[in-house]
Amino acid sequence: MKNVGFIGWRGMVGSILIQRMLKKKDFDNINAIFFTTSQYGKSTSNFNIKNKHKKLENAYDFKKLFELDIIITCQGSKYTDKVYFKLRKIGWNGYWIDASSNLRTLNDSVIVLDPINLKYIQQKLNMGVKTFVGGNCTVSLMLMALGGLFKNNLIDWLYVSTYQAASGAGAKFMKELILQIQYISKNIPNLAYNSSYNILDIEQKISKQMYSSSFPKNYFHIPLINNLIPWIDKKMNNNGQTKEEWKGQFETNKILNTNKIIPIDGVCVRIATLRSHSQSFTIKLNKNLSIDNLTQIINSHNKWVKIIPNNFDDTINFLTPAFVSGKLDIVVGRIKKINIDKNCFSIFSVGDQLLWGASEPLRRMLKLLI
Ligand code: NAP
Repeated sequence: MKNVGFIGWRGMVGSILIQRMLKKKDFDNINAIFFTTSQYGKSTSNFNIKNKHKKLENAYDFKKLFELDIIITCQGSKYTDKVYFKLRKIGWNGYWIDASSNLRTLNDSVIVLDPINLKYIQQKLNMGVKTFVGGNCTVSLMLMALGGLFKNNLIDWLYVSTYQAASGAGAKFMKELILQIQYISKNIPNLAYNSSYNILDIEQKISKQMYSSSFPKNYFHIPLINNLIPWIDKKMNNNGQTKEEWKGQFETNKILNTNKIIPIDGVCVRIATLRSHSQSFTIKLNKNLSIDNLTQIINSHNKWVKIIPNNFDDTINFLTPAFVSGKLDIVVGRIKKINIDKNCFSIFSVGDQLLWGASEPLRRMLKLLI
C-alpha cells in the first residue's frame, strides 16, 4: 500500500476531503500518515480511519516527508513554498497533490479537474509529471457548470461576477463571520419584535454596532455581515485586477490546455454566506444558439450539472448557496439571452466551493494515483 501523507486536514478544504474519503472508503487502500504544523505528537485516536499512524507527525520533518509516496496538502501556499521546493531539491520524487495556488503556474504542474481534463492529466502522468494542483474554487465551479460550452468550443469570451462565501477564505474567516452574526444579535436584542422601534432606527443601531471597537474583525478587517467586499486576494500589476480575477483566464486556459486563449475577466466579491460560491456569467458565444440548444449542451456535459428552470419558485428554492451547500450538485439557472447581443447569454450558477471547488478534484486525483 502507498504511504500517503495528509497535511492541512484540519482546515476547511482538508476536513471536507477527509469526510469525502471516509464516505467513499478511500482510506481502505492506503497507509495514511497525518501531519500538522501546530499539534505534532498528539494522538490521532479520534479519527475513525483504518491504516493510519498513531501520532500526528511534524509537517516540517523532511525525513518523514521523504518516506512518503504521495503528499496531499490543503495547508496553504506558505506551507507549499517552504516545503515543496526543498523536498524536490533533496531528491524526493513522489506525487505532490496541492489545494493551494502557488504551484499552479509552474510549467511542470497540472491543474486537476478530471471531468474537464482527464485525458490531459493521464497524458501528463504518462510523461512523468508528479505535481498536481487543484484549481481556484470559482474557476473549477465555472468549468463544471459551463463545461459543455467549453468542450464544444463555443465561447468567444466570458465575464463573471462572483459572490463568494466566507469559508472560501479559510476556517478562521468563516468563524469570524459567525462571531459577527452573534455580536449583532447579542447587542441588538429583539428590537425587530418591538413595534415601537422604527425600522430605520434599528438599521442605525446595527450600523453603529458594526463599527464599535469590540466588533470581531481581525481577519476580514471590516464587518462582512450586512456588507460585502468587492476585493479578493492581492492586487496584480496589470489592469487593476485582483489575483482572484486574474486566475479566471490563466487557470481556465491551463486546465483546458487551449491553443487559442479564451479571454475571461470579472469582479470577485466576498459576501456574507458561510459556504458555497455563486457566479453570474455573461458569455459571448461564437454562434447564435437557441436557449434550448444551449441548455441541452450544458446539461449533457456531466452528471453533476442540474438545470434550474428560469422561474421564481425554482430559482429561490434551488439556485442558492443554502440549497447547494454540502452537495456535489452544480446548479445552473437564470439562462437567458441578453438584449444587447444575440450571441450573448447570461447564466447564474452555484456550487459548493469546498467540494467541486477544492477537495473533490484532489480526492479524485489521489484515487487515480492509487
Ligand atoms: P484553512 O481553513 O485556513 O486551514 C489551513 C490550516 O490552518 C489548517 O490545516 C490548520 O493547520 C490551520 N488552522 C489554524 N486555525 C485553524 C482553525 N481554527 N480551524 C482549522 N484549521 C486551522 O484553509 P483552507 O480554506 O482549507 O485552504 C487551504 C488551501 O486551499 C489554501 O491555499 C486555499 O487558498 C486553498 N483553497 C481553499 C478553498 C476554500 O474554499 N477554502 C478553495 C480552493 C482552494 P494545522 O492543523 O497544521 O495547524
